[in-house]
Amino acid sequence: MTDLSLIMIGTCDLAGQVRGKGFPSSERESRMKTGVGWTPTNCMITCFGQIASTPFGPHGDLMLIPDPATECRVQPAADAPVEHFFLGDIRQTDGVTPWDVCLRSFLRRAVQALKAEAGLAVTAAFEHEFIYHGQTPRLGDSYTLDAVRLAEPFPTRLLTALEAGGVAPDSFMAEYGPSQFEVTVAPADAVTAADRAVMLRQIARATAHSLGSTVSFSPIVDRASVGNGVHIHFSLSDAEGGPVNHDPAEPFGLSALAGRFLAGVVRHMPALCAVTAPSAISYERLVPNRWSAAFNNVGYRDREAGLRICPTWDVDGADVAKQYHFEYRAADAAGSPYFQLAMVIWAGLQGIRENLAAPTPTTWNTADMSAAELGRAGLVRLPQSLPEALQAFDADGTARTWLPSDLYTAYTMHKAGELNLVKAMSADEIAARYAQCY
Ligand code: GLU
Ligand code: MG
Repeated sequence: MTDLSLIMIGTCDLAGQVRGKGFPSSERESRMKTGVGWTPTNCMITCFGQIASTPFGPHGDLMLIPDPATECRVQPAADAPVEHFFLGDIRQTDGVTPWDVCLRSFLRRAVQALKAEAGLAVTAAFEHEFIYHGQTPRLGDSYTLDAVRLAEPFPTRLLTALEAGGVAPDSFMAEYGPSQFEVTVAPADAVTAADRAVMLRQIARATAHSLGSTVSFSPIVDRASVGNGVHIHFSLSDAEGGPVNHDPAEPFGLSALAGRFLAGVVRHMPALCAVTAPSAISYERLVPNRWSAAFNNVGYRDREAGLRICPTWDVDGADVAKQYHFEYRAADAAGSPYFQLAMVIWAGLQGIRENLAAPTPTTWNTADMSAAELGRAGLVRLPQSLPEALQAFDADGTARTWLPSDLYTAYTMHKAGELNLVKAMSADEIAARYAQCY
């Protein structure tokens, strides 16, 4: 009998949404080569579903080709249908030439440039916070076992589905906010890590759906509560796969090479925010004393830093150099993980290219620093709105050179369109709107 079960191919686009098309399983063999047809203007569909004014109009044809390495099957409950999907690359109709606005290809180019120019590879993992609406919060249940208990069977189903989907869950916990949870996954090479972030969001949605509920990864769901961050953990390794981040002889153990990479990231962080914190509501999260990120500092074990040097566990002869890594905190789930990680890599590579001096890590609250102290330390407050972040991107001529011009044009037009759709709304309406979309 012909297998008509559905296989989807998806792409995580400029809006951070996963869009795609499906086909019957019986066509799998041919579809692995030809994928499905795609349209340039699809990337201009904002998170609200309306198309921003588009440079592509109704013209052009592309192919969305599945990557076999991303095959994912999700069955969040025994009585739920199996979801079967691949993530893919958008190519020209020759099937091989990457489309300039394909974000997965853009990340791959960043990975290739880092390898070619610096002989380095990035290993990464995206840590997600989100609200699960199927749990009734109990007063004072931050970080409690009770909050996890009251959310069951969601946590168990989620971890089981992540493992089955190849996403390798690492930890799960109740976060600080009411009904807020956090899930971390095992690190992987850059493209796989971004694939896993995309899959994780899909699997969390599918799991909540199997329970008649929903999740929201929006950076601010409740304006009176804490935000949902995406913390991008990353480390650098050399051609042999050996870690190069740690040097016990340097201050805070930060190697000179990794210091150059981090210097590039903090220098370009205001521009990066346009991509890593890409919604109109993202900037309510990026304020001081919210444990998110408000300045472009490298913080030593500091949960307010733009970039954090994460802790290492010096027990039982564990290899500190292998654990030593960094966390980019000014990110949220309104963006595409491919685009976000690509921008971090390009910025870090730029720091290596220019041999920038390693930043001096902060060990104090940057929010307490005066303007003069910030100036002396070379620190800046991160943009305080999406228009400000887009201006910083526009003003950063170096950052703009990392992007194909079609990608820059499409992205800035897309974001202008999105901002236009919320310009007449109150802050509460904006938060509610984004909470539905992410
Ligand atoms: N919720 C915080 C954020 O918006 C992060 C809290 C934490 O350090 O895990 O990034
Ligand atoms: Mg957290």
